[in-house]
Amino acid sequence: MAKIRFSALEQVEKRKPLTAEPPAKKISDYFGVNVFGKEAMRQYLSADSYKVVMAAIEKGEKIDDRTADAVAGAMKTWAVERGATHYTHWFQPLTGSTAEKHDAFFDWAEGGKVIEKFKGSALVQQEPDASSFPNGGIRNTFEARGYTAWDSTSPAFLMEAGNGKTLCIPTVFVAYTGEALDYKAPLLKALDRVEKNAVAVCQLFDKDVTSVKATLGIEQEFFLIDKALFHARTDLLLAERSLFGHTPAKGQQLEDHYFGSIPPRVQCFMQEFEIEALKLGIPVHTRHNEVAPGQFECAPIFEDVNLAIDHNQLLMDIMERVGEKHSFKVLFHEKPFAGINGSGKHNNWSLSTNTGKNLLAPTSKPKENLMFLTFLVNVVKAVHEHADLLRASIASAANDFRLGANEAPPAIMSIFLGDQLNGVLDELEHNATINIEKGENMYIKLGIDKVPPILMDNTDRNRTSPFAFTGNKFEFRAVGSSANSANAMTVLNTIVADQLSKFHAEVLKKTEGKDTKREVIIVEILRDYIKSSKPIRFEGNGYSDEWKEEAKKRGLSNVPNTPRALDAYVSAKSKQLFAEQNVFNDVELEARHEIMLHSYILKVQIESRCIEQIALNQIIPAALSYQHKLIDNAKGLKELGLKEEADALIDMIKTISQHIKLIKEKTYEMVEARKAANNEEDSHKKAILYCDNVKAFFEVIRYNVDKLELIVDDELWPLPKYRELLFLK
Ligand code: ADP
Ligand code: MG
Repeated sequence: MAKIRFSALEQVEKRKPLTAEPPAKKISDYFGVNVFGKEAMRQYLSADSYKVVMAAIEKGEKIDDRTADAVAGAMKTWAVERGATHYTHWFQPLTGSTAEKHDAFFDWAEGGKVIEKFKGSALVQQEPDASSFPNGGIRNTFEARGYTAWDSTSPAFLMEAGNGKTLCIPTVFVAYTGEALDYKAPLLKALDRVEKNAVAVCQLFDKDVTSVKATLGIEQEFFLIDKALFHARTDLLLAERSLFGHTPAKGQQLEDHYFGSIPPRVQCFMQEFEIEALKLGIPVHTRHNEVAPGQFECAPIFEDVNLAIDHNQLLMDIMERVGEKHSFKVLFHEKPFAGINGSGKHNNWSLSTNTGKNLLAPTSKPKENLMFLTFLVNVVKAVHEHADLLRASIASAANDFRLGANEAPPAIMSIFLGDQLNGVLDELEHNATINIEKGENMYIKLGIDKVPPILMDNTDRNRTSPFAFTGNKFEFRAVGSSANSANAMTVLNTIVADQLSKFHAEVLKKTEGKDTKREVIIVEILRDYIKSSKPIRFEGNGYSDEWKEEAKKRGLSNVPNTPRALDAYVSAKSKQLFAEQNVFNDVELEARHEIMLHSYILKVQIESRCIEQIALNQIIPAALSYQHKLIDNAKGLKELGLKEEADALIDMIKTISQHIKLIKEKTYEMVEARKAANNEEDSHKKAILYCDNVKAFFEVIRYNVDKLELIVDDELWPLPKYRELLFLK
């Protein structure tokens, strides 16, 4: 009998939901209690220091040493009062997870005594060893040192883990020589660029706009499976993805899981991680079942991009920790189960002004609607212009199984606007003669007055579009569930910043010394943009084969795998874009490219090794045991003179042999391909070899293993089956 599998199944049978009590009945009574935010600062800082800090944060300026000391002192008092013993600079290196190195608050005082201490210098800057984090060669050329520096726009927080509490200070992580080694540093630059350029464009319409923030609401999809079952599968344990497994008799075809009632054990898990998240000021708001069995989603209310990403990273940490307590493993992998929906991290993105306006929300005022159309059309134009880069920003070994693979939608970037808005743009495009008179009337002539009533209805949805307008924001759905959204957001905000700056320059140039009304010039420019970016707009089924054909005709690219998609990061066009917007220099881009290729290689390599080990050590032995039984049986039947009956068994014995033979052959060929790939020095070539030559064996090996799963005695099968992983809660 397959011991581990059955003992895991027994454990699952015995599980009970674990309820957790919130610290107070009302969420508003405990929301953000673990955050050193505005409220705490006001309480723990002198009025003067508070003012200086808030001004610096709002303007994104450096905080002087004296104020830093004051803030450090206040933070320490606040944290120690709440039981914290340690502090850490919390940062997001390019490993994909968050990193922290804890230091105790205490220090020697005179006379050999110990006191609690935390200086401004320790708040502002630390020096973790950069050599232990991916740096893409930056370390080889320069020194191994790296610095973390306080990001004052994201508040410090108290992390409770085990019995201890740690004060976490969000920071950027840069090399000794200034190159970014993390996700946050370039993101902050991109956000600064989009803000400056959006403000300039807003001022063409409204002088009151002095600040624009990009906003982000992240919908997080994930699978939950029981911890014991997870541990019984090497593939899930090491690759977070099932490399084998026949589709269950019942999958997601009934669609009875979506929005269905949440199982009690899951509900308790969700309640507890939500409590923990709310204490940390993460505004988790929505939870529901997803389409696939065992798949769920949670979404917070949107925030400024930087904060939303910090919160998403934290949320993933919390979910894993709380999951452990509830004997669940949270799978953030993009495609943990073949034949079943994958998971995304939908990035809902917009721009919002200091005057309280969402720049992607149409209003009923014609003049404001021209501003809305300006931003909308510029985003469309930016995405069209840099579709390849946007595709690269979501590329990973895991996301390849969700986009571009056999059963997955293609990796073509396109924008869905919805019938009505599409109609508005079409009208604007074809209305060749603009007959402008004066006042608000001109918009009526342009047909723009039709915008407001129509757009109130934003129920139009297209779930097959990677980048969809949803009434008052864009939803970038192609981002993978395990990704740090910073990659996608750095690219999106940079390309929009760049586009807005070009638009602004064009408006100024074309209005210079002319009497034509500025609005007319703007409409003309928008019309050009609408025409030139038209190929990126697609309203149909993005998952269909017809779309692949159509997209090809339109000249849109469809790069199905990561090693090739990543090329867009280091193209001359992208280098120029990032340099002009001052987000990445060439060294940083090359380094990042190298890190992403390396990560791809490692992921495929691990999967390939898992396939080899599971196939040879678990699957073939199980199949042989069963085959042995059949052989004994057939012999017995023959002894009894039942030749025909024995023949039926002999057929089965042969089938098993064939599968075993193929599994062995293909596994050995894969190992050879891996060896050949490993001999390649150049990362790009090596990643391509892994993609084309090593990964190519995964499916055929899997096919034969999955066939055996159907034949071999269930009692002997060593791996928990899909039905057990997906349906047992
Ligand atoms: P859906 O129908 O896609 O579930 P929701 O209204 O639930 O739409 O929104 C999904 C996410 O979009 C939420 O996190 C929400 O806060 C976020 N969102 C709403 N408005 C904006 C905005 N202006 N900017 C960024 N995100 C937003
Ligand atoms: Mg959504």
